[in-house]
Amino acid sequence: MNKSFWPPRFIETKRDRGAHSAEEIEAFVSAVTRKDIEPYQISAWLMAALLNGLSETETSALTIAMSRSGKTIKWTQLNAKFRETKLVDKHSTGGVGDKVSLILAPLAACMGMTVPMMSGQGLAQTGGTVDKLLSIPGFNMDIDTERMAKQLLSVGTCMIRQTSEFCPADKTLYALRDVTGTVPSVSLITASILSKKIAEGVDSLVIDLKTGRAAFMQTREDARRLAHSLVRVSREAGLRTHATLTAMDSPLGTRVGNALEVIESLEILAQTYPTDMHKHASAPLEKLCVDLCAEMALVSGLCPTLEAAETLAWKKLRSGEAHEKFLELCSAQGAETGWQKKLPRAKFCVDVKASESGYLHGIDALAIGWLGVEIGVGRARAEDPVTPDTGFEFLVTTGDRITRGDVIARLHLNEENPAISERVLAAVEIRDSKPEVPPLVLERIYDV
Ligand code: URA
Repeated sequence: MNKSFWPPRFIETKRDRGAHSAEEIEAFVSAVTRKDIEPYQISAWLMAALLNGLSETETSALTIAMSRSGKTIKWTQLNAKFRETKLVDKHSTGGVGDKVSLILAPLAACMGMTVPMMSGQGLAQTGGTVDKLLSIPGFNMDIDTERMAKQLLSVGTCMIRQTSEFCPADKTLYALRDVTGTVPSVSLITASILSKKIAEGVDSLVIDLKTGRAAFMQTREDARRLAHSLVRVSREAGLRTHATLTAMDSPLGTRVGNALEVIESLEILAQTYPTDMHKHASAPLEKLCVDLCAEMALVSGLCPTLEAAETLAWKKLRSGEAHEKFLELCSAQGAETGWQKKLPRAKFCVDVKASESGYLHGIDALAIGWLGVEIGVGRARAEDPVTPDTGFEFLVTTGDRITRGDVIARLHLNEENPAISERVLAAVEIRDSKPEVPPLVLERIYDV
């Protein structure tokens, strides 16, 4: 026990709306990391911090202390060649059908950025990049830093699993926040997200901050508040960050499911869609990938303007270079030869037909996310397993005209589930009027 750090006093300070010094916060994080403070004391402080708030200075101190609680990567110390690279990453606050990373990492790499992507597994309604990539036979997400560095310099990107070697304090704090009602604090979320990115050693970052019915931040105002905090604290920590507010009301793209999302990513990367309907329904997701990639090129200083970055991103996607890069990435990380033909497939499919005519106003992503948990796509608790092959395929997108009897979705299942078609239909909103279809990118926040 650090004699100068006395947990009851630390808790009382926040309970009484006092301010912590950076040294006190560092001592707290160090106690959390060494397990030198009781979980009930951490929980009491988390609740006090949620109710009474942390100042900007306290949030920055917490972020930096958490980022140093475990391993940190200094790429230029590993290899001087990293001095000439643009090290940049993207973080998504989580969505349904969010396979953006699978398309974005190779696309950014073939534009000239260096992208060390550390991802997490899915939880609750939101999917995780780790679960999707692990559906690729042989894909290894547990590679060490030396191998990452080598791959980054040769391929330009690597995609690995976030482990508790990095930011162990966040692992402890997040597990307690999850069971004490203290997740929704802007300061605690800011510190949790940014500490992991700072430890990863990137110079710049794009945050895809989802807002809408299936998002963590459901209202635009809450999302904006978090974006401001993330951009501000990043600046204090020397990390250039752009936040993009994007809509998460309907699932992204045509597929929700681990291997199914790899298949859609391949279709977009290779620009080969099984039908025009698939191409059309994947288009908003494809545009979002290009928009976010352009943000990465802008924030990293690779391109001088967003327009120039978008033009370059479209060129690399359309030319097939991003597809080649994805195959190179998979092969570098152990994917079996011909893995595309070996992706797991569910035992059977069930078509869901529209029960009425009209226009599609949206598909409730929250409902689909939780139905996904039921059929094995996602998990309710961190330790639950997922299935690689089950999921949903949507053949329509918001704004489409639908006629009663049209196949609008296809379910990929391993077990009979008589009620599921009805429940998917209940998540599909069809009305008589033609809706306005807003873009997925709602707002860009660069500076505050
Ligand atoms: N994602 C994180 O990594 N941490 C949070 O606190 C919330 C979302």
